[in-house]
Amino acid sequence: MKTYDVIILGSGPAGLTAGIYASRYNMKNLVIGKEIGGQVAESYEIENYPGFLKVNGIELAEKFREHAERIGVELIPFINVLDIQKKRNGFVVKAENDMEYFGKCVIFATGARKRKLGIKGEDRLAGRGISYCAICDAPFFKNKIVGVIGGGDSAVSAAVLLAEHAKKVYLLYRREKGKMRATPYWVMKAEKNKKIEMVFNAVPKEFAGKDKLEYALFDCKGKELKLKLDGIFVEVGTKPESELAKKLGVRTDERGYIIVNHDMSTNVKGVFAAGDVTTGSNMFAQIITAASEGAIAAESSYKYIKQTSRA
Ligand code: NDP
Repeated sequence: MKTYDVIILGSGPAGLTAGIYASRYNMKNLVIGKEIGGQVAESYEIENYPGFLKVNGIELAEKFREHAERIGVELIPFINVLDIQKKRNGFVVKAENDMEYFGKCVIFATGARKRKLGIKGEDRLAGRGISYCAICDAPFFKNKIVGVIGGGDSAVSAAVLLAEHAKKVYLLYRREKGKMRATPYWVMKAEKNKKIEMVFNAVPKEFAGKDKLEYALFDCKGKELKLKLDGIFVEVGTKPESELAKKLGVRTDERGYIIVNHDMSTNVKGVFAAGDVTTGSNMFAQIITAASEGAIAAESSYKYIKQTSRA
């Protein structure tokens, strides 16, 4: 079984940064991840990552990958980790490629996945007019009428992106405007865009259509709103990918985010966490906060290995 100083689960900004820092500490490290760049690769325009005035998500994710590989990170992309178990003085990681890897310590940088609404018609019509990734699917809606559900940065930036393709975009938020979580930057961009119509107090109730989405139904303060749409984008936040960490006994908050100390250690010795899967980053899930947590986690794992090898 191949042995590493640190195995990093997740290849988003937190995981790849952890790999870059681990390499600089001369630690033998392995990054295993489902998607290069994680949610960054699904982001539209990024204008708040230093050094890049404007960059698209896929481009930035590729830069992260190039940097990591050039500096010596061993990267296994596009596979899932199936299991992780505490063994001897470390952890055995079992991956989808039927391989097992031994790490003296591990960093969970597994991120978060898109949340679903859980309403009628959602599962049946997913991929048939209902999408969870505007950057992937926006081009399919050229000159069409689409909706976006949500009131955070993901929803508003998706609406702005969709307006480049669609002829009309409804941005549907369940409360009044003042309660939106999106940053003023994105709200202003959406407001200035003539193709975007914001609808407030619209609580999603049902998606309907025979073989593909035809209508979305909302409850607007007791009144039914029935919108005929070619597509709808659900952008209602994320859920942490922390199941494997929980199996190891790692403590999470009530929503499943991994509770970390200021050095990104968890309650389990040798287990660190970074990025959107942690309580810290979840408060302000930005690329830069994920990357910085990744750097801190790598530094802490280095100290941990030095300490345990002295003991
Ligand atoms: P948020 O948690 O910020 O927003 C989720 C939105 O979905 C809220 O408006 C919420 O409404 C709404 N919502 C949740 N559940 C439902 C439901 N059942 N029905 C209808 N609406 C629902 O998630 P985001 O993904 O938007 O953002 C996550 C993080 O990522 C944030 O920190 C954000 O800043 C960051 N981000 C930054 C970007 C950037 O450009 N810098 C781009 C994208 C994301 P309510 O407010 O009522 O709870």
